[in-house]
Order: sequence, then C-alpha cells, then structure tokens
Amino acid sequence: MDHFDIAVIGFGIRGLGLITANPELRGHRVLIVDSGRRFGAGAFVRILSESNSNGSDFFNWVDGDGPYGPILDLASVRDLRSRADCFDLQLLAQALADAAEFVRATAPSHWSIARDAVAAVDLPTDGGTTLRFAHGRTVRADRAVLACGVRERRASAYEAVLSSTLLAVPDEARAEELFPGARRFTIVGTAHSAFSALAKLSALGVEAEAVTMTGRSPVRLHYPSYDAYRRDGHPVAEAVPDPTEDVCPRTGQVFRYHGLRNRSRALFGDVSQGRLPVRLVIDPSGESTRREIEAADVVIQATGYVSDLPGIERTGRRVVTAPVALCDGDGVLLDADGRRVEDVYLMGCDPYPYKSRFTDPTVQYIDRGSAVLAALEAGRHANT
Ligand SMILES: Cc1cc2nc3c(=O)[nH]c(=O)nc-3n(C[C@H](O)[C@H](O)[C@H](O)COP(=O)(O)OP(=O)(O)OC[C@H]3O[C@@H](n4cnc5c(N)ncnc54)[C@H](O)[C@@H]3O)c2cc1C
Repeated sequence: MDHFDIAVIGFGIRGLGLITANPELRGHRVLIVDSGRRFGAGAFVRILSESNSNGSDFFNWVDGDGPYGPILDLASVRDLRSRADCFDLQLLAQALADAAEFVRATAPSHWSIARDAVAAVDLPTDGGTTLRFAHGRTVRADRAVLACGVRERRASAYEAVLSSTLLAVPDEARAEELFPGARRFTIVGTAHSAFSALAKLSALGVEAEAVTMTGRSPVRLHYPSYDAYRRDGHPVAEAVPDPTEDVCPRTGQVFRYHGLRNRSRALFGDVSQGRLPVRLVIDPSGESTRREIEAADVVIQATGYVSDLPGIERTGRRVVTAPVALCDGDGVLLDADGRRVEDVYLMGCDPYPYKSRFTDPTVQYIDRGSAVLAALEAGRHANT
C-alpha cells in the first residue's frame, strides 16, 4: 500500500491555500487528491456570479520569495489581485486553476497529485489514516486534511431552487424559459448568496417588484472598522454588530468575512432605501416566510452550506455525523461527541458563514499548516 506523511483531500481554494501557504510541506511525502474537473477551482467553477470579497484579498498567503512566489506573477492571478472591489468569480476560478497547475508542475518527486474520489477515511487502531477510493484502492497517510468544501443544505419543508443551482445559470438565459408562467419569486435568505440570486433574477429578466426576500435575521454589512460602522446611519433591516463577537480581532473589520460588500451591499442599500421595489421581510419567527413561500411561484433557497465530507470511520462505524463538522483550535476534527479525531484536520466550513475565530478563512491556511507541520515533525522525532 502507498504510504504518505499527509493526504490533502480536496484541491479547491482551501487545499490549494494550505499547500501554497506552507512551502515546508515540500519536505514531506504529500498526496493531494481531488475528484473535480479543474484542480484549484473547486466550487467556483460553477458560480456564474460576482464575489463578495475584493480581488486583492486573494493569494496574500503566498510568500513572494518562496517556491510558490511565481504564482503571484501568473497573468490571471495578477488580474485578480488588481481588483480592489468585486469581480466575476470565473476570474477567481481561472487564477486558482492556474495556481494549482503551477503546484502540480513544480511538485517534488515524492508527492502525488491525483484526480480521484475518496469514498472514506478509515482510522486504524494503531493511528494514522487509510484512504479508501471509490474503486477499492487504499492508501495510507499518517495525517489527513479534509478540504472537501461545502454543499448547499436542502431545506426539506418546501420545494425550492437552490441558490447554487440558480447561480450556475448563465446571465444570457431567460426567466420565462426557466420558470414558465412564474410571476412571484421569493428568495429565502439575506446573505451574499441571496443578494447574488437577486442579481441573477434581474439579469434573467425578472422585474424587481416580482421579488420578495425573506430572512430570519437582519442583514450583516461589512465595515472596515467599528468606528466606520458607528459613523453611518443604519436601516432597520441591518444587523447591529456585537463589538466582542463580530469585530475581527486581527484587522478590526466588522463582519469581516460574511458581511455584505460591493454589489450585494449596494443592492441591499437600494432595497432598504426603496430605490428597488423588492420587498425585504426580516422575520425571526419564520411565520411571514412560510406565507411568502406558499404565495410564491418560485422559491429560491439561499440559507447556507454544510461541509461535504467523505465517511470518517473507525472499525466500520462513522465517527462524524453530518451535517455539521467542527474542529478545535488546532484544526483537529471533532467527532459527534466533541472528542478530537487525532490525525485528521479540517479546513473548516461549518458553521457557514463562519462563526468561529477564523473570521477570515485564509487565516486557516497558515494556522492549519503550522499545526499539521508540528504534528509531522513530532511524528518524525518519535520515529527516530
Ligand atoms: C455567489 C458566491 C460567492 C462566493 N464568493 C466567495 C468569495 O468571494 N470568497 C470565498 O472565499 N468564498 C466565496 N464563496 C464560497 C465558496 O464557494 C467557498 O468558500 C469555497 O468554494 C470553499 O472552498 P473549498 O476549497 O473549501 O471547497 P471547494 O471549492 O468546494 O473545493 C473542494 C474540492 O474538494 C473536492 N472533493 C470533495 N469531496 C471529495 C472527495 N471525497 N474526494 C476527492 N475530492 C473531493 C471537490 O472536487 C472540490 O474540488 C462564494 C459562494 C457563492 C455562492
């Protein structure tokens, strides 16, 4: 059986971020495995919409003087990083794919980068992990990092189009053909994916007055600082940040990761100021939402994502129960009872949008890398 020091399962932005933020991993035997069609791009391949973040936010984790420094000179990466506001997410998909290709082309000879699907991660009693692939092959890895991404959770109580499905539709499509005869659209959710769905409906030719947005909690907006938040006036539909919970301790930004920015923020401004005749209902009890869902011809669900993990099994029994997968401060996966699943790390997604101290997912790349490298070094010393 092939044996690696570390297996990275998933080569989307997080797997790529882990690898490129931690060049020291080049000194270890690394397996990277991804079942998708474009290494690096991950879920962004399917999102035909705009970002919430600025292009300049990306690839800051790459050390320009290190072995991955040339990634910063790739044309698509430079183009992305020159955007000081939102951008077409296909630009990010291209930059990530180009960066992943650089990683593949410059990988040490003791690495393996494979296009394959991991069906399960087994936890042998003597430690480490065994990856089982869909076609039966197995591989041993002392440590495994789960960077498998997220999938949109389906709310079962009503028929809905998932926002991820709507956002995969090109702007050139027409609403009359996609939703024949539909007059009333309800978007459930008020985060970036909900406002992206609103923008998509408009691009498809749906009039603003045909749309209602409904959410359980007020809308979170990004601010560069708490002072900037205090200086502004705020509509009633806007969330009030808690200075201890919602201000990033590192940068001082308010609702740093999931607060609306750019186009989504402007759309919220237009809706809340009545410049766009979309009805916005903030409804903690869920009662009005239920009525809006019943009255709508098309319901679009934009209520969040959950981790998309392979089975994690010890002696044939699952140790992590979906839908929510959590890790501790070291990034070690926690089982259903909150105990550490040693040797397995999570590039976290849950709860999504993020509530943990990793208000910025890119902080995870270095944090996880440091924890994994420390564990690999400790293992190395134990074996000598
Ligand atoms: C409109 C919209 C805008 C967004 N804007 C941003 C943004 O600006 N910034 C941002 O950070 N996020 C944004 N997101 C969220 C974004 O989709 C996720 O944050 C991001 O894709 C997560 O990256 P990831 O690497 O964890 O997962 P993914 O991109 O999903 O990559 C996971 C990879 O793992 C592979 N994989 C999964 N399971 C297995 C398995 N069992 N075996 C082998 N391979 C496997 C998949 O093929 C995939 O390539 C946006 C989302 C939407 C809908």
